[in-house]
Amino acid sequence: MTDFTATRAMFDLPRGMIYLDGNSLGPLPRNVAARVAQTVTDEWGQMVITGWNRAGWMDLPARVGDRVGRLIGAAPGTVTMGDTLSIKVYQALASALEMVPDRRVILSDTGNFPSDLYMAEGLCRTLGPEYRLETVAPEAVGDAIDTRVAVLMLTEVDYRTGRKHDMARLIARAHEAGALVVWDLAHSAGAIPVNVTGAQADFAVGCSYKYLNSGPGGPAFIYVAPHLVDRARPALSGWLGHEAPFAFDLDYRPGRGVERMRVGTPPILQLAALDAALDVWEGVDMDDLRARSIALQDAFIAQVEAGCPELTLASPREAAHRGSQVSFRHPHGYAIIQALIAEGVIGDFRAPDILRFGFTPLYLSPKDVAQAADTLCRIMQNGAWDRPEYHTRARVT
Ligand SMILES: *Cc1c(COP(=O)(O)O)cnc(C)c1O
Repeated sequence: MTDFTATRAMFDLPRGMIYLDGNSLGPLPRNVAARVAQTVTDEWGQMVITGWNRAGWMDLPARVGDRVGRLIGAAPGTVTMGDTLSIKVYQALASALEMVPDRRVILSDTGNFPSDLYMAEGLCRTLGPEYRLETVAPEAVGDAIDTRVAVLMLTEVDYRTGRKHDMARLIARAHEAGALVVWDLAHSAGAIPVNVTGAQADFAVGCSYKYLNSGPGGPAFIYVAPHLVDRARPALSGWLGHEAPFAFDLDYRPGRGVERMRVGTPPILQLAALDAALDVWEGVDMDDLRARSIALQDAFIAQVEAGCPELTLASPREAAHRGSQVSFRHPHGYAIIQALIAEGVIGDFRAPDILRFGFTPLYLSPKDVAQAADTLCRIMQNGAWDRPEYHTRARVT
């Protein structure tokens, strides 16, 4: 059994704060500061440029990629790290599209994160007028997969509602229709059990600063199925994805396996932070994590629905259809979240009316969750959320 008291002790959470926003930016694991300081002082400071070899900086994207791979069911050597998730979405999509040359349609859903859709639109514009992105309602995806679709591009867990797609079923459906699938695991990696190998995913991408706690701006990951990777032609053909970067050839040749999905110089300080942050996962069983996440979510839903009936559940009621977050709707959602934050309970707001709460068993206890629900209901009952200062929108919601 996973010891969640032990994992909680591995985090440096601000005193008095209940953090229900690990789905947006994970908190600081205790060992990260020392590791980053060591990388700065001993490696960058003392080794300077020799750190690329002596400290193994150049291998860090692959080494850390393997550690992330373990959390998503990817074999060693099939995941690499770098860039931001938006870039990785673009790369995966471009390579997948090129592998289905007789088709021109990218299919996605209206619950997808806008950046994924924007990247797809931008790629279509570059490729030519016959390429297009089609979106349907999340529930309609299965039926919309036909033989016109080149690539199905989906985010497994909806960032707004927490609704979870049936990944294995949709992959099987897409493959039957001759399409490839790109999965965005931004709200899956570290949140729920994922098995890209077992589900036969073609490409998968995700970020590390949400449930994997790498810190703001931490690098993204990309997985390419082993049977496809040698055919994957990188659209962003940077020098570090070249077969021999230090040959400085004038012609591009893709590197070995998923290494070809590297673009430029890796962010070593952020990779060091992520590498340390991943230590937290060493004794964690993902099935235990899932069971505990569902128990926390169900308790929160029950308490909030009983205590503040004016909030409407926006997430699927059935736990099996949710990721690791719970959302409610209210027309004054923004102000309610600001009032909650003022009380030390951190959730966030997504336009137009979603109050979003992430559930992260690594550092959240049943007591935290009960207290958070209690605070939310108190704010709703005494009208504290309706103060003018809570209605002013900040740049980041
Ligand atoms: C968080 C998130 C992103 C963010 O992309 P960045 O390039 O890292 O800013 C993209 N897609 C999804 C589905 C996300 O949840």
